[in-house]
Amino acid sequence: MINILANDGIPEIAIDLLKDKGFKVTNEHINQDSLLDSINKNNYEVILVRSATKIRKDIIDNCPSIKLIGRGGVGMDNIDVEYAIDKGIKVINTPKASSLSVAELVFAHLFGMVRFLHDSNRKMPMEGEKDFKKLKKRYSSGRELYAKTIGIIGFGRIGQEVARIAIGLGMNVLAHDKTISEANISLKFFDNSKKTFTIVTDPLNVVLEKSDFITLHIPKIDGKAIISAKEIKLMKTGAGIINTSRGGLIDEDILMFSLEKKKLAYAALDVYNNEPSPSIHLLMQDNISLTPHIGAATQEAQERVGIELAEKIIKFYNKE
Ligand code: NAD
Repeated sequence: MINILANDGIPEIAIDLLKDKGFKVTNEHINQDSLLDSINKNNYEVILVRSATKIRKDIIDNCPSIKLIGRGGVGMDNIDVEYAIDKGIKVINTPKASSLSVAELVFAHLFGMVRFLHDSNRKMPMEGEKDFKKLKKRYSSGRELYAKTIGIIGFGRIGQEVARIAIGLGMNVLAHDKTISEANISLKFFDNSKKTFTIVTDPLNVVLEKSDFITLHIPKIDGKAIISAKEIKLMKTGAGIINTSRGGLIDEDILMFSLEKKKLAYAALDVYNNEPSPSIHLLMQDNISLTPHIGAATQEAQERVGIELAEKIIKFYNKE
């Protein structure tokens, strides 16, 4: 029997799919320190992880039973992918499964921040009873998203999902991408009608200058911030910025400075430098909407991730 270890959790539906094909699935978390011994003791051939468990050279070199490593999600920073492939191990991931969830989180932040919900939710429990009128005044200059311009930097899977939602809301969409010059964005409506829009990408400076909101959907490149002082200077005064991609794509110090100086009105962050211990100064800013790296963490995305992994494992073992 082929033994699978799902070390960072896998949904029941995926376990059922795998069990139906005769796999044995252990859905429990083994600490990083004990992982190597446990893999060897239980002869696990397939190791499934999300972002928590690290599969580095030590495990790859010392666990000869491993034939396949599966990452539920996109980024593979926690796996020595090239090394594993060189050693004849198959490495798979599920890049598409969570795009919609990340895109929806962008709009959760966006709708919240233009009406100051992030700040109001912090202040109402403490001050709402005593200072209702003061808070009402503080949050009385909200804005609508309709007819505003969203600038999408990185027009891949998630960027295009963001465009789809933005078009549905009646927003103008601008996009910039290093390699994609245009993309067709299809919207399907409740009555099964469909409309496709072609978005032609623009240079970065054009997107920065013309957008009311900027959202980042590119991978982290060499630890370098793509949004720093020069780029923020190009942005409209009073604009907002959202990063649900990877910590460090926005220079955090420059971001705080730009918020304090009111060059930017608000920001939203799901990802941070130095996760899981982000800067306390950043967390204390009342004009930043904050989530703890939960972009892909919806029930629907977890389910799609699990099903996609199960199907890829079944295919790898020719058990379709
Ligand atoms: P993707 O590969 O489909 O798209 C990324 C796009 O960025 C590509 O089209 C690429 O050409 C473009 N790009 C790369 N470098 C660029 C640059 N310097 N300037 C302009 N464009 C550039 O990736 P995706 O699935 O859309 O994911 C995007 C990001 O979202 C990834 O970094 C991923 O790690 C992150 N992500 C975060 C979460 C979360 O939980 N917050 C979940 C999933 C993915």
